[in-house]
Amino acid sequence: MRLATITNWAYGCTVALALASCSTMLLASAAQDRERAAVAQRYELDHATSMISEEVFALSALARQYAVAGDASALAAYRHELKRLRVVEDRVKHIRDAGAGADELNALRDALRWTDALQDEQQQALTAAETGDRTTAINILFASEYERELDRVRSDIERFQYRIDQRTDAEVKAAISTSKLWRTASEVVLGGTGFLFLCVLFFVFRQRVLRPVVKLSDVVSRLAAQDYAAEPPEYEQIDEIGDMAQALRVFRENGIERQRLEQERDADRAMRDLISRMTQRMQRCDTLADLEGVIQRFAPEVMPELAGRLYLLDSSRNVLVEGCSWLDPVHSRAEFSPLSCWGLRRGNEHRASDGHVDVPCGHLEWSGDHVPESLCMPLTAQQGAFGLLYFEPLPGRRLSDGRDVYLKMLAENIALALDNLRLRDALRDLAMADPLTKLANRRQLDTMLEVQLTESERHGAPISCAMIDIDHFKRFNDDHGHDAGDAVLRAVGATLQRSIREGNLVFRYGGEEFLMLMPGMDVDQAAERAEEVRTRIAALHVVHDGKALGSITASVGVATAPVHCPRDRLTQTADAALLRAKQGGRNQVVVAATRMDERPAITASA
Ligand code: GH3
Ligand code: MG
Ligand code: MG
Repeated sequence: MRLATITNWAYGCTVALALASCSTMLLASAAQDRERAAVAQRYELDHATSMISEEVFALSALARQYAVAGDASALAAYRHELKRLRVVEDRVKHIRDAGAGADELNALRDALRWTDALQDEQQQALTAAETGDRTTAINILFASEYERELDRVRSDIERFQYRIDQRTDAEVKAAISTSKLWRTASEVVLGGTGFLFLCVLFFVFRQRVLRPVVKLSDVVSRLAAQDYAAEPPEYEQIDEIGDMAQALRVFRENGIERQRLEQERDADRAMRDLISRMTQRMQRCDTLADLEGVIQRFAPEVMPELAGRLYLLDSSRNVLVEGCSWLDPVHSRAEFSPLSCWGLRRGNEHRASDGHVDVPCGHLEWSGDHVPESLCMPLTAQQGAFGLLYFEPLPGRRLSDGRDVYLKMLAENIALALDNLRLRDALRDLAMADPLTKLANRRQLDTMLEVQLTESERHGAPISCAMIDIDHFKRFNDDHGHDAGDAVLRAVGATLQRSIREGNLVFRYGGEEFLMLMPGMDVDQAAERAEEVRTRIAALHVVHDGKALGSITASVGVATAPVHCPRDRLTQTADAALLRAKQGGRNQVVVAATRMDERPAITASA
């Protein structure tokens, strides 16, 4: 039942009870009126009957006075009193109308009968007295019978009054008890009305105010603790409670929206942190393998719903080759031509799926009618695309549009890291290689020599070194120009590069000097290899600007550690041997001296 219905009923009952209370009060008042009327009637009857008794005795006294003394004034007074008695008698005769009972009426009737009898006798006596027969009159009025009649009148009136008193007392008692009853009923009804009113007031207060306030207060506490599962109750009434519930609903909706935005922001921050961490790790990678390891570790964390593969361009073959993959992609081939990828052709990301109408890339493979969802993101640098990031959703997952921004960040950062690595490798090569001859330079020799000497010492193996210097090189510069000199250096460098065997290393030592490092080779093997190199150089015919530059020869000094010297003196010992080769006439190989002896050159100049 609705609250309004209950309160309306309650108000109706309260009004009915209030009316009932008024009625009972009126009834109590009526009972009191009856009580008052009974008392008044009793008084009147008492008074009237008392008057009859008094008048009868007064008339009797006046009649006797006239009979005894013949006093005319007494007769006149008698007649006057008689009239008054008649009036009183008339009034008393209507006593039936006042609800007198049979007993009372009998008593009154007896009294009046005896009064009439006495009046008759008085009349006889007065008539006799008026005729002068005062004796008869006195006999009548003082007879014992007359006295008895007087007593009877008195006793009948007393009996009547007694009866009247009894009845009136009973009526008064009944009226009083009725009045009390109605008053009590009125008080009870009034109390009930008040109680009901208070109950209704309390019910309404509890339903309309207390309970909603408690509920709203609970909701406010939970919302303050950011528990947005707390739903404000639906109070549609137009009052402060309804306004409060509406305000709470708005507050909750705002809170939910704020929480959603905070969650989105936190998720976005976490994702950016993850990508940033990945980028930092990638920047610290020295090799492609390291970089691929980082990508394989982080890419599935950034895009757990997407399998992917990194392709790198092999420009020598003009194909994209798989670098690494994660979460096992199945639809893209491990190697394909750049032309078969629309992403690479357009230089932009390319997405193909059932819901996204576009041409599928040629490197995709699938069975059935449905084109698998895929995303190709070219990795580009200044010189163009050098790789591709390929994604496909795992079974039951989809490519979601909302994460494009992270995919783009991922692709950009991977492209940047790969480009940096390539740039670093190129710079390292530049730093370590001699640009003219393409041989490793002096800086790389310093690094490699230390490593090779340590290895040789660790294994107790010999290590040999050949120092090669072009003879009279200055003349090429002087006679044919610096470019011709460079051509000679390139030709000698290429010859040395071709001459090295497995494990051998060749460096441009500086100017027109070269150094060949032969780990594990003993003195004889090294001398033999040096001679081979010398012979090859001597066989060179370099033509520059259409002009033959003439014969090219070189002197070679060979040293082997630890035979000729301690390992840390290897290059100096070879240099000393070279010096002796120069001094010996050039175009020859000189092996370093053992102890105090100097071994003879294996070959002499031609
Ligand atoms: P020797 O037989 O005693 O070794 O005589 P040499 O002329 O070969 O030796 P020298 O030390 O007198 O001359 C070396 C010259 O090599 C000097 C320098 O100008 C030249 N040179 C050094 N580096 C280069 C280079 O990269 N290109 C050219 N064209 N010449 C260079
Ligand atoms: Mg030199
Ligand atoms: Mg020289």
